[in-house]
Amino acid sequence: MPAQTLRGEVTHLLQELIRLDTVNPPGNETRAAELLRDYLEPSGVSCDFYARAPERANLVARIPGSGEGPRLLLLSHTDTVLADPAEWTVDPWSGELRDGHVWGRGALDMKGQAAASAVAIASLAREGFRPRGDLIFAATADEEVGDDPDFGLSWLCREHPEAVRAEYAVNEGAGDRVEVGGHAFYLCATSEKMSSPFVLRVHGRSGHASLPSIADNALVKAAGYIERVAELAPEPQLIPEVEVLLEAVCGDVPAAADALAAARAVDPAAAVLVEPLLSPTLSPTMITASNKRNVIPALTEVTVDCRLLPGQTQEEVETLLRGWLGDGDYEIAWRTGQGGTRSAMATPLWSAAETFIAEAEPGARVLPMCVAGFTDSHWLREAFGTVAYGFFPVRSMDPYLAARLVHSADERADVDDLELGVRWLRHAALAIAGSDG
Ligand SMILES: [Zn+2]
Repeated sequence: MPAQTLRGEVTHLLQELIRLDTVNPPGNETRAAELLRDYLEPSGVSCDFYARAPERANLVARIPGSGEGPRLLLLSHTDTVLADPAEWTVDPWSGELRDGHVWGRGALDMKGQAAASAVAIASLAREGFRPRGDLIFAATADEEVGDDPDFGLSWLCREHPEAVRAEYAVNEGAGDRVEVGGHAFYLCATSEKMSSPFVLRVHGRSGHASLPSIADNALVKAAGYIERVAELAPEPQLIPEVEVLLEAVCGDVPAAADALAAARAVDPAAAVLVEPLLSPTLSPTMITASNKRNVIPALTEVTVDCRLLPGQTQEEVETLLRGWLGDGDYEIAWRTGQGGTRSAMATPLWSAAETFIAEAEPGARVLPMCVAGFTDSHWLREAFGTVAYGFFPVRSMDPYLAARLVHSADERADVDDLELGVRWLRHAALAIAGSDG
C-alpha cells in the first residue's frame, strides 16, 4: 500500500467500487467482495466469503478481539439500484472525481460508506489496533431486492450467524446534518417504521359492460374506498424518538395533537422530519380489476403501501381502517411486514456518536431518528438484539440534495464527507471495540 492519506485512500477505493457494476438484479456483488478483499488483506485484515450463489458473495472481514469487549460490526451493502445513463451528466459507472465529489451509482447508497468502513478497519489494522471485542466489516449482497431467495444479510444471519453476530453495528439510514431553528443537528437512525403493505379486495358481481345495471361493478365501488383510505388521518402519537427530537427543537414536548404545529412554528424543516413519524401512513399505489374491456369486474384489488410505527401491529391499523371504512364487500389481506424494529437510545454507541460530533462540530447535537423506510438493520436487531444505528455523517453535502440523489441521476458523494465518515468509523471502533493498549 503506497503511503497516502485516508482521504485519498477512501476516494480511490470508492472510485474503484463504483466502476464495478453491481446493479441488483442481477447483483454480481462478488466483484465488489473481491476488490475489497484485495484492498483489505495487504493491511492484515482477514477476509471470508459467504455466498449462496458464487456471483453473489458477501465479504466478512475482521480484526479479532481478545474477547473481553463487545463486538462492533461496520455494515454496508455492495449492490445498487439501476441507472439510466441518458439521465446522467457523467457515466454512472465512471467513478469520476469532479468538483470535489466522486460521481456514480452507489456513491451515497452505499458504496461510499462501504469504502469508508473498509478504510477505517484497514488503517486501524496497519496501526496495530488490538481490540477487546472483534471489529467486523461486512460488505453484503442483495439489500436492494432481498426477495426469496435472499443472498445478503438476512441469509447470513440465518445460515452463518457467527460471522455477523455483534453487540453493536453501524449501518446506513441517517447521519445527515440538518439545521433547525438556527441549530445544527446530526440525525442518527435508531429505529425504523415497518413496511406492511396490504391488499384491499373489493367484491362485486361481474356482467357485460353494455348492461351496467345488471352487474355490481367492483372497480367503481373500489374508487370510493380508495378515496376513504387516502383521507384516513390516524390520530398522532409520540414515539420516544420524536419526543427527544421535539424536546431538542421546541424546548419541550408538546401534546401529540399539537406536535406538528409546534414543530412547524420553530422551523418548517422540523415539521418535514416529524410528520411521517406521528402516525402510520397509508398510500394506495396499485390496482387490478377486469382484464377485459367489456367485462365488468367482480373483484378489484387495491394495493396499499402501509408504514406502521415501530411496535405498532397490523391488527391495530386494521381495526382503525375497518372503523373508518365501515361494513362493506371488502377484505383486508396483509402481506408480510418488514422492519419496524428499534434499538435503545442510551447506549455506548450513542455516546460515541455524541463525542464524535462534539469534536467534529462543537455545538451541534445528535438527535435520534426513526427512518420512514427500512434498512438491513432490522435483521441484526431481530437475530441478535444488536444495537444497530444508521449513522454516516453527511455535513458538506446539503441533506435535501443528498436525499434527492439517492436512487436517482447524478448520485455523488462529497470527498469531505467521505473523509469525515472514515474518522467517525475509526472513532466508533476505538470507543466500542476498545483497545488493549
Ligand atoms: Zn442502501
